[in-house]
Amino acid sequence: MRLAGKVALISGGARGMGAAEARLFVEEGAKVVIGDIREALGRELEAEIKASGGEAIFVRLEVTNETDWQQAVATAEQQFGKLDVLVNNAGISGSGRVENVTLEEWNRVMDINSTGVFLGTKVAIPAMRRAGGGSIVNISSQLGLVGVDNSSPQYQASKGSVRLLTKATAIQYAKENIRANSVHPGPIETPMTEARRADPEVREVTIGRIPLGRYGVPDDVAKGVLYLASDDASFVTGSELVIDGGWTAQ
Ligand code: NAD
Repeated sequence: MRLAGKVALISGGARGMGAAEARLFVEEGAKVVIGDIREALGRELEAEIKASGGEAIFVRLEVTNETDWQQAVATAEQQFGKLDVLVNNAGISGSGRVENVTLEEWNRVMDINSTGVFLGTKVAIPAMRRAGGGSIVNISSQLGLVGVDNSSPQYQASKGSVRLLTKATAIQYAKENIRANSVHPGPIETPMTEARRADPEVREVTIGRIPLGRYGVPDDVAKGVLYLASDDASFVTGSELVIDGGWTAQ
């Protein structure tokens, strides 16, 4: 069991990749705090994990709210004794080209995808220090590495910022045995991409850009996140794990 004895907090853990990570982490021995704004789905997942004999708890977490983060981290420490792993996974997409994106829409995506990662990191670090170290896994995107014509500027900018916030965190906290790495998934079959996958034209263009010729599934990413969360990655910090079917290799 690769996460035996570990306690993890996963933002956006109620569905999609976050939920896949929660299930896999529990299978690998972790106790998991699932943080999300989707309360019904989050509670369903908590019940499913408990029914299978695992330990999980749902907390309502709006990632732009620092008090919510403090409560989520306190829940990990009070219910499960400590916090070893934070997966900053919550995120939203966006649409538009630079000249027709409103400031409000820009700020909404940046607040959740970028500021949300900053707040989670900020609040988790003191708890990880109390635990003697930890691992922060930030979910960026292949679009945090390269640009593309049919995504939005605010999404790509937010994911690029996650990449470098991760490196700043890695450098500032390495001496305290707190690691930070970013993960860069390509297109994955989750609710986020459902509408785009249902459009035959967008689907064809997207798959045409993936050398492996298919969308990824949530477990493709969860297995990489598991590695970075675990002690197998004890010498890995400030790195970028690209899980994109070859998108950025071209
Ligand atoms: P998803 O929409 O299926 O799930 C995202 C989860 O985040 C949801 O449960 C949602 O309720 C939660 N969330 C959204 N805003 C939140 C907020 N303000 N506070 C708390 N929770 C919030 O998406 P997904 O595809 O599983 O994406 C997970 C992460 O992976 C995101 O950061 C996304 O940008 C990134 N990503 C996705 C893809 C893809 O193709 N699906 C590719 C690269 C990166």
